This record gives sequence, structure tokens and C-alpha cells, in this order.
Amino acid sequence: MPAMIVTNTPAKDLAYTNFAYCSPSDLRNFIVPGSTLAFVSIGDAFVLSVAGHDTIPSGHIGLNAIQRRHAKVSTGDSISISRFIPPEDFNLALLTLELEFVKKGAKDEQVDAVLLSKQIRKRFINQVMTTGQRVTFEYHGNGYIFTVNQATVEGQEKSGGIERGIITADTYIIYEASNSSGIKIVNQREAASSNIFRHKEFNLQSFGIGGLSEEFADIFRRAFASRVFPPHVTSKLGIKHVKGMLLYGPPGTGKTLMARQIGKMLNGKEPKIVNGPEVLSKFVGETEKNVRDLFADAEHDQRTKGDQSDLHIIIFDEIDAICKSRGSTRDGTGVHDSIVNQLLTKIDGVESLNNVLLIGMTNRKDLLDEALLRPGRLEVQVEISLPDENGRLQILQIHTSKMKESSFLAPDVNLEEIAARTKNYSGAELEGVVKSAVSYALNRQLSMDDLTKPVDEENIKVTMDDFLNALQE
Ligand code: ADP
Repeated sequence: MPAMIVTNTPAKDLAYTNFAYCSPSDLRNFIVPGSTLAFVSIGDAFVLSVAGHDTIPSGHIGLNAIQRRHAKVSTGDSISISRFIPPEDFNLALLTLELEFVKKGAKDEQVDAVLLSKQIRKRFINQVMTTGQRVTFEYHGNGYIFTVNQATVEGQEKSGGIERGIITADTYIIYEASNSSGIKIVNQREAASSNIFRHKEFNLQSFGIGGLSEEFADIFRRAFASRVFPPHVTSKLGIKHVKGMLLYGPPGTGKTLMARQIGKMLNGKEPKIVNGPEVLSKFVGETEKNVRDLFADAEHDQRTKGDQSDLHIIIFDEIDAICKSRGSTRDGTGVHDSIVNQLLTKIDGVESLNNVLLIGMTNRKDLLDEALLRPGRLEVQVEISLPDENGRLQILQIHTSKMKESSFLAPDVNLEEIAARTKNYSGAELEGVVKSAVSYALNRQLSMDDLTKPVDEENIKVTMDDFLNALQE
């Protein structure tokens, strides 16, 4: 291993690249045989792409501050450098980054996520990236540093990724913005991934959902994780996206809240919600048509956009209304069968759609036609049960947060105690308790003799007694 002297990166504007620099004459030593790429291995572990620069004397290697920190070297140090020969399949399929916004430029404070990932790809194409490495770059006057969290090489996908590879035109870049200021995420899949990664702790309370974080983590792993990755990765892994999911459990436990949140996370917009009984029609063939119509947009997108189609999320509340098991319908007309079949052909048939996620919800899983629950259909089934004490506390906190902010909640209100006293209450019932407590408090402010008398707003206080009264109802 030849020793080389560490110097700074040659020119100021090159400080924002990820190349190491050497003299043009030294560069020859680092070129990968049969290619135009050149890499240096610093010590044993750190690999960088290297470029030649006239101002660097032979025997010197120019590294920027971040590279020096990563390699644990300083300018003037003599370090061992060798040529790095990449393995055959070195092309990165996927790069997961944690992006920091370090310097705000004069313009373009709102950065488009798609453009930014394209920019990263363009800027660093053919360059080597090592997991754990930090890289600086500038774009539209804004300064960024990213940390490489995970890298996956084409054809070698394995959990946890690999150590390093090079970015190609097809590398899919997913990033998490750790400083949200000014970074507007717009790309559907990238948006989904970054949202999901940011909320990997699944703090659902900020979305107004109490309890349920374990259920959510379960749904995430079983149904979404694969959605975050681009088609060429998932096809290599041989996985098929989950197209159907069932949320079941007692009424008022947050199934709808959860399904909506899933919809928003996966494509950033409100999903379509339909209700089983609404779709049912007494006219022959009409229900089947209603079911077909639900998928019309998705079909159109699949036809016109193919792989690039947006994901269509269809939430089907009270799905038992149209998909009862065969035995339970006594009309003998086979109408239910044809409705179930209609639904199934869209997610599981020969002409099935790849761009849909059907989320069914029911209070009565036992009534469902079991054909609907087979693999490839509503295959991820998650029970949303009544909240435990901690879940109840979270739900109470969510539904009293506004009044707490506006100091309408009296200091004596002990939500822990209410949570302890409301065993077997659903989320919807807890919300009801809060509403009822509020009504007691408002009632106190009203004068029965004169309902038109102005209310003394300042003095509205919802007290522990109001809650206790509400619990008596
Ligand atoms: P489901 O679909 O399970 O019947 P919903 O999601 O429609 O229940 O819940 C009805 C209402 O009850 C919600 O809009 C919300 O106000 C409240 N609620 C139910 N579960 C929760 C929960 N886990 N966290 C917060 N609020 C909840």
C-alpha cells in the first residue's frame, strides 16, 4: 500500500462533492481495469471515488473535511491508500439516506423531493457510497449533508443491505429529511417512505389515534414495508404487494381512523371510503356494477400509466354487508357470490389490478365469506380490539387536547383515573364521555331563565366532577 499525504480538497467549489482528488499521474494507479472508474481505499475500510486534479502534487490525496473526519485523518498525515477493485455486481439498487438541511440558500426554500433525489442521483452517479458515510452537497444554494443509512446492490438484496456500491441511473433513492424546514415531499412513494421512516416509532397520537401502535407496526411490516421499495427491487425479491387488508374488531375502536391514516401515509391524500350497505342495490346486477365502478379510476390509471400509476386505496367499511359467507345468505340466488367474485377479480383475478390496496373493515369477521380471506386477497388481517388502560389514557388525552390548550380543562381533571375507570370502553365511547362532560360544564354556564343571556366564555371549565357525572350516564 503506497503512503500518501492528506491535503485539503483542491478548490472551494469541489468541497461539495464526494470525490477524493489526486494528481493526474497518480490517478492511473487507481483506475479499475477495463473501465473509466477509479476508486481509492483509505486504510482498509473507507472507499471513495477518485478524480485527478492538476493542483494536487503526486503522492498527495485531497479530502474534504467530512471525508477526513470519516477516515479519522488530518491534513499532513501520511496514510496508506490502495486501489479498490469493486466486485462484479456493484450497482446500487437502493440507497436510503438521512438528509440534513444544513444551509438555507437564497431561493427555492421549498425543495421538490423528486427533483432532489434525481439531483442526488445525477450528482453522484458512478460514485461509490458506503453505509455510515456522510456526504455534503449543494443544490439551489441550499447546503445538505446526507448519511448513507442503507445500500442494496442489484441482485444481492438481503436484509440490512450491504456495505457499499455505486449509484447508477436506476438507483432508487429514499431519504428521510431530519430537518423538515423547507423540504416539501411530493413524490408518492418517496413521500410514503419518508413519512413512514420518520414515524417508525409509530407515534400515532400525533395523528389523533390512541393506543394501537402495536397494531400499526404489524400492519406496517406486513402490508406497507414492501410498498416503499421500487418495483425493480420488489420484483427481484420476488415479493408481491399486499393488495388487500382486513381490519376487524368491535365498533368504535378506531378502524376507520387507522385505515384513513394508512391511506394518507401511502399516497398523501384522503382515501376513498365506501360503505357496504351503500353499495348494495336491490336491482339485479346493480351492486356488481357499483363494485366495478369503485375500481374504475384505478383501472384507467393502470391502463394509461402502467407501472407509474398512483396507488389507489379503497376503504370498504362494513364489508360484511356485501361479502357474507355463502351459508349465511338464504336467498339462494347466488347474488352474494357474484358480488364477492366481482370484488375478487379486481384484486386477484387474471385481469387484476396492481395499483390497488383494498382495506376492508368489519365488526363481524365471522360473517365474511372465507373466500375473501385467502392469500392474495384480504390477506393481512389485523384485529383492532378495545383499548387497554394506556390506550384509553391516550385516547382521552387526544380528545381533551383542544380544551387543555384553551385552558377549558380544570386542573383537577385526572385522566389517568378516568382511564382506569373505563374498562371495556371503546375509543368512540371515550370520546362520548368527553363530550358528555363538556355538556355538563356548558350547562352550568347557561341560565335557565334566560337562554339568550350571553355566556361567560372565560369561565367555562370542564371539571373532574363533570367527567364523573358523564361516567354515570
Ligand atoms: P370503527 O371504524 O372502529 O368503528 P372509528 O374509527 O370510526 O371506529 O371511531 C369512531 C370515532 O371514535 C373516531 O372518529 C374517534 O373520534 C373515536 N376513536 C375511536 N377509536 C379511537 C382511537 N383509538 N383513538 C382516538 N380516537 C378514537
